[in-house]
Formats: sequence, structure tokens, C-alpha cells
Amino acid sequence: MEKIITRDKLVYTMSRENKPVLEVESGTTVIFETCDCFEGQISSCDQSIEKLDWSRINPATGPLCVKGAEPEDVLKVAIEKIEINDYGVMAAIPGAGIFGENIESSSIKIIPIKDGKAVFNDNIHIPCKPMIGVIGVAPEEGAIPNGEPGAHGGNMDNNKIVEGSVLYLPVFHPGALLSMGDLHAVMGDGEVMVTGVEIGGRVTVKVDIIKGRKLNNPILEYEDRIYTIASKEDLYQAVKTSAEDMLHLVMNKLGMGINEAGMLLSAVGDTEICQIVDPKMTARFSIPKDIIGKDFL
Ligand code: CA
Ligand code: ZN
Repeated sequence: MEKIITRDKLVYTMSRENKPVLEVESGTTVIFETCDCFEGQISSCDQSIEKLDWSRINPATGPLCVKGAEPEDVLKVAIEKIEINDYGVMAAIPGAGIFGENIESSSIKIIPIKDGKAVFNDNIHIPCKPMIGVIGVAPEEGAIPNGEPGAHGGNMDNNKIVEGSVLYLPVFHPGALLSMGDLHAVMGDGEVMVTGVEIGGRVTVKVDIIKGRKLNNPILEYEDRIYTIASKEDLYQAVKTSAEDMLHLVMNKLGMGINEAGMLLSAVGDTEICQIVDPKMTARFSIPKDIIGKDFL
């Protein structure tokens, strides 16, 4: 039988206090139906951003309990499929994003999705690259609002979290408690105006537990590269932490000292920005998978 979590099962924080809405064994495929980051409150460009119910922003569907997941394990989330609805939403909000101080009034844009393209206007049709903005587990401490990224994942807004990618999340609490939402039909690195093409949809993932492997932060496999992902108050610290996580991975896996591993990262590693507009900023650092081998964890 198909395991599905419907889009009425929503949480607004990630927390060990959230009651699981589904329990599965490791190795199970699960469908998460997700709402857009406005919880579907916007369907027309005549609506006012100021009149939205802001307590319903950034809902995530879940949480899913993966039986047998314990602290200091890793939850492997293979993203098998991302299906998106037929329209997305963007917004301009005074004070929000890197142009915020110059935005005088808010506006909303409805973006139809046609033939795999986001119709921005009559002339600009953008190829869709559906991604998951919010995905994570119960954090080590407290309840973290879904708008915020961290070691547990959350609002990483990483446009490499797409169909075919595999995300590895640290487990902090029994069952891991995986939730996700905030799909984007397409989003540029940085998400400079605070919204991607925000959209609801359905995500199919296969979850597996990797026992006894402690991660500091999420790791991602995307195409032929692997990425360490870190979120910090300051972009430099996010970049530094993501690179340090990769440094330690390479040192452990290839048996190199810091000098050798650091030189290798300087030669083949890429620093990239996920987003710079959320309560913490998120960076990712990548190297080609073949440097470190298939079995990199
Ligand atoms: Ca987001
Ligand atoms: Zn979003």
C-alpha cells in the first residue's frame, strides 16, 4: 500500500514535540503532499500580502517517524520524484530580501506553469527545476520555526535539493521526525527577493537509516558532486563551516592531513550560496564524487 502524508498534516516548527503522523520502517518509500510557503492563501495577484494569516507561513508536511532511527544515526532521504501544481506565486515585500529597503509597496505575482516552464511574463518562460525549500528533522534542542535553517536542515532553500538528489540528515531524536514543504518551481542561488516560484506539490522520497554515523550538518549528493551544507547568522561563517565539514570528510575518508586535504579542496572544491535572506544564511561546499569514492559517509 502506498504510504502518503496528506497536506492537511502540517507543522510550523521542527521539534521533537511534534507527534508523528506516520511511522515506517527504514527502506520505505513515502509521498509527502506539500503546500506552498503561503499555505495556499494566495490565488490572485489582487490579494494583499499584508492581509495574509502570517501564522500559516512555511508549513511543512509531517513529521514522519522512521522506526529504529536513533541519535547519532544518519537519515538518508533519496528524492525520487517532485511533482508541482499548475501555478506558483512570487511576492515583493517591503523590507524583505536584499532590495527590501527600496521596495515601497508589496505586490504579488501569479506564475502559471506550462509545459515544464514557469511563465514569468509573455516573453520570459523559465525552465522549471523543482526543488524542496524546507526539509529537515527534529533539531537537537527546542522547536525551530520552519523559516529557519540549521544543522537539522529546515529552510535551507538549496536549489540542488531536486529529483534525483540524496540528502543525508543528522538524527537527533528517535524516529528522526522528517518534515518537508516550501517547494519552488525554480529558484536562483541566493533567493534575493525572499521568494522562489513558491508552489505546492507532491514529493516522493525513500528513507533509510545509516546506523552509527554522526553528522554535524546535512550532506547532499547531486549529480556527480557531493555537498556539505551549513547555515549560520553570517555568510562567511556558513561558508567556513560548510568547507570545514568537507575538509574533515576528506581527511577521514582519504587519510590525509589538513595541509594535503586543504590543498585538494582549494583545487577542486566550490563554494556556493544557497540563500542569503532567511534568519540564517546557508552555504554549500562541493567536490566531485569520484575524488572521495561512492561510499563517502
Ligand atoms: Ca524557503
Ligand atoms: Zn519558498
